[in-house]
Amino acid sequence: MDHFLYQNGILHAEDVPVPDIAAEVGTPFYVYSSATLERHYKLFDEALEGLDHLICYAMKANSNQAVLSLMARLGSGVDVVSGGEYRRAIAAGFPGDRIVFSGVGKTRAEMMLALQGGIRQFNVESEPEMRALSGVAQSLGTRAPITIRVNPDVDAKTHEKIATGKAENKFGIPISRARDVYGEAAMLPGLDVVGIDVHIGSQLTDLEPFEQAYTKVADLARILREDGHDIRRLDLGGGLGIPYERSNDAPPLPVEYGEVIKRTVGDLGCEVEIEPGRLIAGNAGLLVSDVIYVKSGEDRDFLILDAAMNDLIRPAMYGAYHDIVPIVEAPAGVALTPFDVVGPVCETGDTFTKGRSLPPLEAGDLVAFRSAGAYGAVMASEYNSRPLIPEVLVHGHQFAVIRRRPTFDEMINRDTIPEWLES
Ligand SMILES: *Cc1c(COP(=O)(O)O)cnc(C)c1O
Repeated sequence: MDHFLYQNGILHAEDVPVPDIAAEVGTPFYVYSSATLERHYKLFDEALEGLDHLICYAMKANSNQAVLSLMARLGSGVDVVSGGEYRRAIAAGFPGDRIVFSGVGKTRAEMMLALQGGIRQFNVESEPEMRALSGVAQSLGTRAPITIRVNPDVDAKTHEKIATGKAENKFGIPISRARDVYGEAAMLPGLDVVGIDVHIGSQLTDLEPFEQAYTKVADLARILREDGHDIRRLDLGGGLGIPYERSNDAPPLPVEYGEVIKRTVGDLGCEVEIEPGRLIAGNAGLLVSDVIYVKSGEDRDFLILDAAMNDLIRPAMYGAYHDIVPIVEAPAGVALTPFDVVGPVCETGDTFTKGRSLPPLEAGDLVAFRSAGAYGAVMASEYNSRPLIPEVLVHGHQFAVIRRRPTFDEMINRDTIPEWLES
């Protein structure tokens, strides 16, 4: 459930009419609902009730400072995957002991940053990384708390670009080699091995792969304990999917996901961490756009929007589906017609959807892409010299611009012309 509903025929973000925001910030823009973000966090928190747990919001889904600050206030932890994200987390008020650091390519500089600034744990993904981290920690006279990310070789049955738990993926170490790798980690003087990490992919709409992966993690935890490792923390990753297509999907609920966790690892007495990103932010955001033209083609009509693939790349990159709705509610029973919905970027790939049944729309009408709060703004670029679009956060009757639209001069002046080209 989210907080984007029609009131008197106008789509609202909580209690704010979306056209009011459009009038103030111009289109296109992203708008997020505080109440929805909070609700999603609490659903996970409740789902893990009874377990010693920390929700580590995967901030790569939406890393706006206001969103992070809201999450930090709720008591959330955060999962970061770069030095930039680490800095954002600190700037938003997350204490170091609520920050976990994931990713296959952490540099020594990033390790240093996190060790000095405070870190809950590094989720280490390879032996070379483990050795590098031990060295960096030693040079600082400290020990780095780590889990090792294991690859359980399960099929997450999701889009190939976001499946991470198969043997062929670049992530983690094969679970079959885990005992050896933990053995080496325990010998490294700069490391403190605290637990096990797993993350099998994103947009999972079935609990079975989680059940398989977490069962393997639980078995491994028992074996590692027998080997003498003090396994006291399990990071179970993120990946629970969201309903992008309201009419069709009903992915599992956080409470059902929580039951899988309790069933598989609940009796180990470990601290449990999860790293949801998409489920927290996805349905907490809309991308709002204006119809520039309705163009009649040979055999189809095109809805040409002022938003494009550079603003929301998921359809072009993953073939992703987003519900598209008019801001002014269509009258009940109105005839729908098929449209190809496209942006102005000079790429055929700048097509949000083909043959989508939509109510009548005209130039100047506003539309919204639903489920755009995760992997939307964070993946945007300025391709075609289209400045990054603003982000807005709603809270009840209030809204605030949380990232303003840059001016064209700001965009242009980030580049510099070398002296030898200046006449
Ligand atoms: C991307 C990612 C997540 C979040 O995945 P969602 O599908 O957004 O929940 C969590 N952990 C790691 C390590 C990731 O890379």
